[in-house]
This record gives sequence, structure tokens and C-alpha cells, in this order.
Amino acid sequence: MKQDIREIFGANVFSDAVMKERLPKAAYKKMKATIESGAELDPDVADIVAHEMKEWAIEKGATHFTHWFQPLTGITAEKHDAFIDPQHDGTTLLRFSGKELIKGEPDASSFPSGGLRATFEARGYTAWDCTSPAFIKETPHSTILCIPTAFCSYKGEALDMKTPLLRSMQAISLQVLRILKLFGNNEVKQIITYAGPEQEYFLVDKETFLKRKDLIFTGRTLFGAMPPKGQEMDDHYFGVIPERVLGFMDQFNRELWKLGISAKTQHNEVAPAQHELAPIYDQTNIATDHNQLVMETAQRVADQMGMKCLLHEKPFYGINGSGKHNNWSMATDLGENLLDPGDTPHENVQFLLILAAIIRAVDENAELLRLSASTPGNDHRLGGHEAPPSIISIFLGEQLQDVVDQFLDAGEATRSIEGEEYYSGVHSLPTFTKDVTDRNRTSPFAFTGNKFEFRMPSSSQSIADPNIVINTIVADVLSDMADQLEEAEDLSMAIHDMIKNTMRKHYRILFNGNGYSEEWVEEAKKRGLPNIKCMVDAIPALVSDKSVTMFEKHGVFTRAELESRAEIMYETYAKTLHIEGLTMIDMAKKQILPACLRYQSHLAESLINIKKATPDLDVSVQESLMTDIQHNVTEFYAAIGDLEEAVHQAEKIEDACSQGHFYHDVVSAAMDRLRAPADRLEMLVSKNNWPLPSYGDLIFEV
Ligand code: ADP
Ligand code: MG
Repeated sequence: MKQDIREIFGANVFSDAVMKERLPKAAYKKMKATIESGAELDPDVADIVAHEMKEWAIEKGATHFTHWFQPLTGITAEKHDAFIDPQHDGTTLLRFSGKELIKGEPDASSFPSGGLRATFEARGYTAWDCTSPAFIKETPHSTILCIPTAFCSYKGEALDMKTPLLRSMQAISLQVLRILKLFGNNEVKQIITYAGPEQEYFLVDKETFLKRKDLIFTGRTLFGAMPPKGQEMDDHYFGVIPERVLGFMDQFNRELWKLGISAKTQHNEVAPAQHELAPIYDQTNIATDHNQLVMETAQRVADQMGMKCLLHEKPFYGINGSGKHNNWSMATDLGENLLDPGDTPHENVQFLLILAAIIRAVDENAELLRLSASTPGNDHRLGGHEAPPSIISIFLGEQLQDVVDQFLDAGEATRSIEGEEYYSGVHSLPTFTKDVTDRNRTSPFAFTGNKFEFRMPSSSQSIADPNIVINTIVADVLSDMADQLEEAEDLSMAIHDMIKNTMRKHYRILFNGNGYSEEWVEEAKKRGLPNIKCMVDAIPALVSDKSVTMFEKHGVFTRAELESRAEIMYETYAKTLHIEGLTMIDMAKKQILPACLRYQSHLAESLINIKKATPDLDVSVQESLMTDIQHNVTEFYAAIGDLEEAVHQAEKIEDACSQGHFYHDVVSAAMDRLRAPADRLEMLVSKNNWPLPSYGDLIFEV
């Protein structure tokens, strides 16, 4: 019998409910004030909280605690410390102080810092983010108390994802409050941004996975001919979930629920072996922590069940890749969603002003948004007729588009399209009011009722980056708007004009058509919208003067922090392609080439035997197959040499930016030239002789 969900949900979280139950009333109150309004936590309270947290964790079997953080590697980091405090008599007490809870001091020198910190300046600090609850990570053989923290250098520079995310949340809150004040709203104390990330992933059989070095080292296949069947039948999306996968999902959900992660929706995705999990949205920093845990847990549970979870954006060429839709909204601390247009958006002036601000923010910062979704793997996905193109545009849906159009045509909006009755033609089916707009799956930034869905982010990345950018660009525009409106003589006139003029000026960013089409690429060019095709071309946007000014103004990043991040991105790109290049060379030389040569000699031997036994038999098929293989092997062998040379040249380049470009332009092209003959050879060499599991083996036999 499986456990009742109510018993396991949140069982491993030091949640509000747990604190309320365990902490003395006064300490609980102070803790709550810190979480809700950022009031400073006094050290005595920290000691009390630490003590209770430790007792709670130890009751659950925890042996260690760790400051859990998100360095710029894109994954999480932890260093465990046991609770033990050995005594002279050979026994031990268990200790965990407020100081240890609040501050940690991991050696920062081995984490990427992009030149922010010389290696001799090793000191780095982790600081407790008490707005994201502590939790226990329980694996079959260990139980660790994890304390979500931010990670900064000795001088206070952010070395992680969380610090700037928290800063961006503060920045947007500040600016939205100014706008709300103009509308006479003085009760709201804080604005909270929310994120609901939909996570896509592939599941493959572990034994099959382990036979492929490319999957092991790079997370994606670097060789592989298309199977006879791919996703063309559209029979996988929302299809019946295979039993083995359902078993995985059940276990996966239960592990997430224990961590208080509200795993809600699951289904098959477009590609065979591809699936999706969506949680219920949460405050952005918590959603970010949770999403890291979702990715980590998926991989762990799959492994335990004899499978592998692939989070790479493009594990299989020619088959849809994986993304991570980032649903974003903001609400007041009183619970009002500021992106809810209500039934009559044309009358909702506050909403229209915020909408106009978002439209302007996206148009003015399209390059930054594109950058925030850039990982080496996402380059294979964006613009590939499966994901939004690299062009940023906004889909508003019929109702809001109509409101904007009215502003443009008549200078004001006087009506809103209403949702119609749904009627299927079958009497026994219920009738209901339809949504006021259909969806547009091809838009990178789509309004979906009461939130925006940013669809570009990649499956493996932290959602911190996109949310930092969205929060900051919206904060920036709102701050400019507030500056102007606070000076206005006739406020309501000024707001009206601002909405109208902003919508007019940034109308070009709105697009409701098919974002996957060639026509859109042409049209976007005419409109002057940027189309940045690869990560290395996207990086400069991070350190442009405009970007530095904006991030510094809102206290999200300093110039030095931005420069270090750009440096790390170039390095990450180069290292990723370097490993891919070397993996291809390794597989080519040690597996594919020997297999082809063996097969050739097998063919030659059998040809000799045939000729001996039946001299008159027509052997043109055998001969032509051998010639065909020989042509491809020759091309393949030459391509190995080319790739080796390209990787060798790349290694010598010192400047990170030029190196990134070289990997993109030269190494990646050499990789493509090596893959082409290999994929043809896979179709010429018999299955028994081919050294790698095929695409068919990987995606149809989970
Ligand atoms: P879809 O049809 O795209 O799957 P859903 O309504 O199921 O849309 O939502 C997808 C994700 O958006 C979920 O993670 C959901 O929790 C999240 N979401 C819903 N409302 C909001 C909101 N106001 N702010 C942020 N995310 C939200
Ligand atoms: Mg979605």
C-alpha cells in the first residue's frame, strides 16, 4: 500500500506549519516578520530557530547539514557538516548554532567566478535565504538538512544565481509600489513575482544509455541516423503513458511532494520518450530552488529505476528537443494578481499601464531576454520548428490585441471582446464560456490569461536567469514611467497618454501569427526585431552600456558582476563544445571506425568465399555495398583529422570571446562534417556490427 499523499506532502520541509508548531511564539513571530517583510533577524532568534531545525532534522534521521547554493555552474552545490560535537568522555553532543544557520564559508576558489576573484582570494560566504524553506534531502543512503542560501564573494559580489534573483525581486517590488501609489493604493507593502516552470525531459533505458559515450559525457547524441519512425504520427503527445514511465512518475512525484514541491501536471510530450512535469507556481526564488530540485530528483529517481533522465535541450537530432516554459506573473502581498485583466480589460487602467510597461520592456530588451535563455544546448532548439525562433515577440491574444488596436486606431479603448459560449453540437456535453482567446504555441512570450509564458528557456538551465531579466526590465520601465507620472499635473490624462503612446511606439513587438514560419523571419527583419541565432552572439547584450546602466541602477548586478558572467558564458560555451568535439573523436576512432573496418573485412572475406564457391554468381550488390562503405569511411577518416585539428586550434585561443566564436564557426562545423558520413555508415553496416544503440533503441524501448 502506498502512503496517503497528505501524509507525505511537505514531510521533509521545515515549513511555516512546522515552525509554528515547534518555535516559541515570540520567536515564530519574529521569524515570520523576517520572511514576510525582510525585517532583520536577531541572533537570539536565529539560535532558537537553528536549535529547533536541528532537532527536527535529527528526528528525521539527518546526520549533516549543508548550506545549499546555486553557483554559476548551473547546478547546485553543497558541503556537508555533521551535527556532532564530540565530548571528552567519548560521547557526542549534537550542535547547530544560529551562526551556522545564517552564514557559511565554503572555499569559493573552485567555483566559476569569471575573473571576479583571483584564486588566492578564496573566501566566499553563503547566507541563509530564509524566504525559501529549509528541507531534508533523503536518498536511500543519506539524510541531509539543506539550507537554501545565497553565495557571495568576500567583497559581496554575487557568485550565484540566487543573489541577483533576490535583488531583482526587490527592484520590481519597489517600482510597482510607486505605480500602485499613483492609483491611490497605499495598503500594499510588497509585490511578489511568481514563476511556474514547466519542465520537459526524456527518459531512456539506463543500460542502453550506458552504451553511448556521447550521452554519458555530453548529455546528447553526437551520432545517430534517424529511425524509420520518429514523431511524424503525432501519436505520443498526451498519449497513454507507458507503465514503466508511469512508475517513474509516481515515485518522482512522491519524492517531490515530500519536499513540498507541488508537482501537479504530467503528460507525454511531442517526441517519443519525452515527458513533462508542471508544478503549481510559486514565489520566484522558491520556484527556482524547487526547479533545481525537480531536475536533480528526476535524474536520481530515474537512475534508481534503471532509467536515465535526459535534461539536455536536444538529445536527438531531428526529434523535438526540451524546453522549460517559464510562466511569470506578479501579485501584491494582499493577493491581487496584477496581470489579471478582469472581464473588461479596456476599463482596467492599472492593468493596461502595466501591460504597456511589459510590452515596452520586452521590445527594448529583446536581446537580453534572448540571452537569458541561452545555453549551448538551446542553440540546437531555438528556431528549429519546434521551439520559438530566436526572435522575441509578444502574443497578446485576441482580446488584448483588440484593446491595443483600439488605442492605436481611436486613441482609446471602449470595449472588450467577451468569451463566447462553447457549443460542440452534442446536447449531452456541457456548455460553458470559452476563453477569450485561443493559444499560440509558437510565440516566445505569450499572454495566457493572467500571466506571461516565456517559452524560450532551455530544459537544463536554472530559471533564475530569465526571471532576473524579466523582473529587472519591467522594473526599469516602470521606474521611468513612475518618474514621469509622479510629475504629471493631470495624472489620469498622463496615464492615458502614456498607455496610448507606449503601445504605439512598441507595436512592432506584437505578433499573433505563426512564429515558426519563414515569413515571420522576413517580417521580423522588416520590423527591425533582432534575430540572434546563437549563444555566442547573444552574450554581448549582457555587458552593453545600456544593460550595465540598467542593472546597476536597480542594484541587481554591478558592471564587474556582469562582465564576469559574460566571461563564464563564453567559457561554458567553449568547454561544452570542446567536450563534445573530443567525445566525437573518441567515439569515431575507438568505436565507429574499427567497426566499419571490421565489417568491411567481413564483407571482403565473404565475397572471396562466395567467389570460390559459386564463381558465376552476380556479386555486384556486395561490391557496390563495399564501395559505398569505402567512400564514406574515407570521408569519415578525413573528417576525424579535420575535427582534431579544429579542436587543437581552438584550445590555443586565449580570449574567451574569440574562442567561443571559433568553437561556433569552426569546431561545430567540423563536428557536423564528421557526423554526416557516420550516420550514412550506420545505415550501411549491419546492426550486429554497429557499436552504438540506435535512435530507435533509445526512444522506442523505454
Ligand atoms: P499550460 O496549459 O500552458 O500547461 P497551465 O495553466 O497548466 O498552462 O499552467 C502552466 C504553469 O503556469 C503551471 O506551472 C502553473 O502553475 C503556472 N501558472 C499558473 N498561473 C500562474 C501565475 N499567475 N503566475 C505564474 N505561473 C502561473
Ligand atoms: Mg505551457
